[in-house]
Amino acid sequence: MANKTPDRIRVGIIGGGLAGATLANALVVHSHLDIEVFEAASKFSERGAAVGLSMNAQNALRQIIPSAGDLLAKAGAVNMNSTRTMLGSGPAAGTFLFDIAADVDPGVIIHRASLLRELLAPLPQEILHANKKLAAIKPSGNDGVEVTFQDGTMEHFDAIIGADGIFGVVRDHVLQDAAEECAASPGGYWDSRNLVPFEKAKEVLGEKYFELDRQWGWIGDGAFILHDILENRTVVQVIISAVELDPPKDRKRPLTKEFLDQTLDRWLDGPIAKGVIELTLDQDDPQGYSQWEHKSTKTYANGRVCVAGDAAHATTPWQGTGAGLAIEDAMVLGALLSKVTSSKDIPAAFKAYDEVRRPRCQRIIDSSRETARIFCGRNPKIGLNPDKLREVIRPRWNFILGLDVEAHKAEAVRLLVNYL
Ligand SMILES: Cc1cc2nc3c(=O)[nH]c(=O)nc-3n(C[C@H](O)[C@H](O)[C@H](O)COP(=O)(O)OP(=O)(O)OC[C@H]3O[C@@H](n4cnc5c(N)ncnc54)[C@H](O)[C@@H]3O)c2cc1C
Repeated sequence: MANKTPDRIRVGIIGGGLAGATLANALVVHSHLDIEVFEAASKFSERGAAVGLSMNAQNALRQIIPSAGDLLAKAGAVNMNSTRTMLGSGPAAGTFLFDIAADVDPGVIIHRASLLRELLAPLPQEILHANKKLAAIKPSGNDGVEVTFQDGTMEHFDAIIGADGIFGVVRDHVLQDAAEECAASPGGYWDSRNLVPFEKAKEVLGEKYFELDRQWGWIGDGAFILHDILENRTVVQVIISAVELDPPKDRKRPLTKEFLDQTLDRWLDGPIAKGVIELTLDQDDPQGYSQWEHKSTKTYANGRVCVAGDAAHATTPWQGTGAGLAIEDAMVLGALLSKVTSSKDIPAAFKAYDEVRRPRCQRIIDSSRETARIFCGRNPKIGLNPDKLREVIRPRWNFILGLDVEAHKAEAVRLLVNYL
């Protein structure tokens, strides 16, 4: 494996979101790999506000881009000083539960578009193709994959990696007959994420919540509220998440005062809900979005095709891990494909990728769903008991943050050697 001059290997990445862009960085440094990235949208862009990168995600990014610290600084990453968690509903609303200090989880929070911009910046522009929506994918004999785009053009690759998001086309190809049973489904919660001018948030919610650059989480009956400071203390992100009993078909619901008052009825005498409802309804078109997830996935790989990022393992956002998992995927795929010297070995590399990544990612998806249940007071053994909440919540992040990224990569490479 090590001594042979490697063949040139053409790898197509479908999707230019955070997963596709990180993956391109992980692969482009290997001189035997020719990388092309295809994005359906007319330009490479990210919607939404912020993304948090916890310690494991930053460590994985550093494995891909040794100067990741500079990249994150250029993207305007802000250190999360601490997260304070409180009780938000019922007679004990306002009870302090715990703080997670920066030394325990030195996470950073970043504007999503800025992170994507900085991930795309080091890549050769000629490998980035916008307006290229994948329409079909099929094996081409035994030696490659043929992809057809919606504009009618076709390309041939030695390997395809689908980073085309939760409802991507590549996932269905990888899963074949199991695609339907493994399709994304509602996770049981919706959320509404809004950006509010700093001064307005301070006026409505109260000055005391804005003295430090601190994230505040409010646990309560049937819902969870979070607010944090972004963009150099000019903007506040305000999130309401709640239990969803009747997922709408189009995955979103308009938010009205009546609906929010009903959702947060046990919260209204507490310190936070009324202000958060006011700020949410002050938005142009307030909507709540269903959180969807992959409850099971039989495999991430099929021959010369695999999936990464949300295409492989979309999760509810309760443990803030979706982007971090995409970065870990890219790190592992980079390590594996750096060792592949012949395109015929790609199926072995993707098999090793599946074997090392799928158990961790599925565990996180399941843990995130259970975290939601606890945060919304729906775990009957814990309820909204402050002592029990203090005891159970913090350890839930240990297995996520504590990933030994070097060992994870080494395990993948060890499996590959066995398969060759
Ligand atoms: C509001 C919100 C907050 C979040 N907060 C956090 C957080 O704090 N921490 C964290 O780690 N994660 C967080 N996540 C999750 C994280 O953002 C996602 O897991 C991550 O962005 C997924 O990236 P992706 O590239 O896999 O998918 P996507 O971002 O969905 O990108 C897929 C790309 O593929 C393109 N595409 C789709 N179909 C095709 C096709 N047929 N052909 C070509 N291109 C195609 C799309 O246009 C898109 O650009 C959050 C998610 C949301 C929605």
